[in-house]
Amino acid sequence: MTKTALDPAAPLVFDTAELRGAGTMMHIAREIPAPEAYGLEDVFAVPKGAVLDLDIHLTGVSEGVLASGQVEAVAEGECARCLAPVQDALSVQVQELYAYEGSVTEATTEADEIMRLEGDLLDLEPAVRDALVLAMPVTPLCRPDCPGLCAECGVPWDELPDDHVHETVDPRWAGLEKLRLADNDGEPK
Ligand SMILES: [Zn+2]
Ligand SMILES: [Zn+2]
Repeated sequence: MTKTALDPAAPLVFDTAELRGAGTMMHIAREIPAPEAYGLEDVFAVPKGAVLDLDIHLTGVSEGVLASGQVEAVAEGECARCLAPVQDALSVQVQELYAYEGSVTEATTEADEIMRLEGDLLDLEPAVRDALVLAMPVTPLCRPDCPGLCAECGVPWDELPDDHVHETVDPRWAGLEKLRLADNDGEPK
């Protein structure tokens, strides 16, 4: 995978230069628009441009920067059973260590185990995206006991009367039914 240089102006990229020298901290408490959709677009996702409410502390540690805190966002999509619109307010914890270039941690770990800083730039987006996507339901439902749709007419059961049925004639009995109707016509056998 080729990696493009981080854009310092991206909403989830932070300049951590002031954290060089361990022990200092930055607090990021702000709302930003989601740079892209997180999740399965048109099925269940935090849409692009939706508000991400960040409450994150960036702490300088000897080997890099520790990002920890909370992100809130609203995911939306369709009920998997009845296709009604569903919204889910997500609140997720983020905890991620970003290693300095040239640090021992960078030298002794893989990039897919421990995130890296690019210079002093920290890209929080992968951690935010992963945390939000993991918090999404595998099967979004409008409510846990959603009865779904009538298999015959496709109308949500919630909109149908309790005694809703479709009169279906079992094909094995269709021949007998014809005979019965013929009898009712009063025709002699
Ligand atoms: Zn439903
Ligand atoms: Zn029906």
